[in-house]
Amino acid sequence: GKGAAMVTAVAYRLAKQQAERQSILDTLRLGREQLVAVKRRLLEEMTRGLARETHSSAAVKMLPTYVRSTPDGTERGDFLALDLGGTNFRVLLVRVRQGRRRGVEMHNKIYAIPQDLMQGTGEELFDHIVHCIADFLEYMGMRGVSLPLGFTFSFPCHQTRLNQGILLKWTKGFRASGCEGEDVVTLLKDAIHRHEVNVVAVVNDTVGTMMTCGYDDPRCEVGLIVGTGTNACYMEEMRNVELVEGNAGLMCINMEWGAFGDQGELDEFCTEFDRLVDERSSNPGKQRYEKMISGMYLGEIVRNVLLDFTAKGLLFRGKLSERLKTRGIFETKFLSQIESDRLALRQVRTILQHLGLTSSTCEDSILVKEVCSVVSRRAAQLCGAGLAAVVDKIRQNRNLNHLQVTVGVDGTLYKLHPHFSTVLRETLRDLAPQCEVTLVQSEDGSGKGAALITAVACRLREAGL
Ligand code: BGC
Ligand code: MG
Repeated sequence: GKGAAMVTAVAYRLAKQQAERQSILDTLRLGREQLVAVKRRLLEEMTRGLARETHSSAAVKMLPTYVRSTPDGTERGDFLALDLGGTNFRVLLVRVRQGRRRGVEMHNKIYAIPQDLMQGTGEELFDHIVHCIADFLEYMGMRGVSLPLGFTFSFPCHQTRLNQGILLKWTKGFRASGCEGEDVVTLLKDAIHRHEVNVVAVVNDTVGTMMTCGYDDPRCEVGLIVGTGTNACYMEEMRNVELVEGNAGLMCINMEWGAFGDQGELDEFCTEFDRLVDERSSNPGKQRYEKMISGMYLGEIVRNVLLDFTAKGLLFRGKLSERLKTRGIFETKFLSQIESDRLALRQVRTILQHLGLTSSTCEDSILVKEVCSVVSRRAAQLCGAGLAAVVDKIRQNRNLNHLQVTVGVDGTLYKLHPHFSTVLRETLRDLAPQCEVTLVQSEDGSGKGAALITAVACRLREAGL
């Protein structure tokens, strides 16, 4: 009768809503063919970035780093290191020992970089950095001591030698004025005024991560960061590095792969949510691949999907809360918690409540979790497709049928997320079957690595090389 008709109508409406949700989520799901295309296009971009003729128009810059080998264990000495561009700003004292007591010992202190300093003038930013160095030396009881310094500066820099880095453009929400186009070593020295500082190396965090891992594992020839931002570096044949004279040996290339897609290479995989996140970022149109992968943006993609669902009456009973309209509420750590398999749905709800999304039902919690997992899975797959391109390039460079290689990895998303590394590995196995890749988490690559690079440079300098 009438009751049965109503039940049918409700069931019909629910089924229709479910189909609608899934068709929206489908836009965020990538098939194998699409991932193969991502890998192929990145390989093409890598070649374009390395070649002299196409470099200036290439989206992926493939920047030479002037790092020519991984450490060999004979490095030693005390070094200062700075680490800017990740989750925290840190100053470190690093002691590198050789021989029987071979190893690295570190002391560090974390300093906050307030939002207004990230977006103020470059002078203010570098004054603050110098202030932190002074505070750190005081804290270590080393006032006035002058040590060789390695500067991990995790932004795209054009280098013509190891101890110079011209900032090409800020990423990850940094916007300090007067820095782009300038050498960051000069900016640092200017801020230090009369004090002497011996900056030996400017280092990207990917390179520091590769070097740290390479200190223990000679097979390590790739560095990967999946944290606030994402990027990779690897050892390329000098003959392919057309921007630098010489054909012999290898050089580490800072790929700056976050900029992949900036010339439309990823447009067909981008969703309306990706476009919204990009438009509202501090660098619209830039770092498109990074914005689909890294921790600074995944939460924003999720939030935009939830907003859309709510506006369409598919979530939170169609009620848009002020909280959900707030940018940045979904930090990486929440995504990681929500997707944890050990978590009961009730706990997901508690997290949502903690985020101020109080009106959620059990179904809402299931859906939010699904959105998170679709978004992070896509990120891990895209990252895996990129890494597949890198290891296959190394294999092809050496005319090998089979390559064994180690990748040093760091970054909060990779380390905290319950499924990211698993999906990354699966994708890699599928898309680069001729490469046997070992992923190794690198502990504190940006600090240790900068010191190791500085140590190698000092060793070569002393040897008069
Ligand atoms: C920067 C890279 C860096 C990466 C990871 C990106 O935004 O452009 O230089 O390696 O973030 O920190
Ligand atoms: Mg870091």
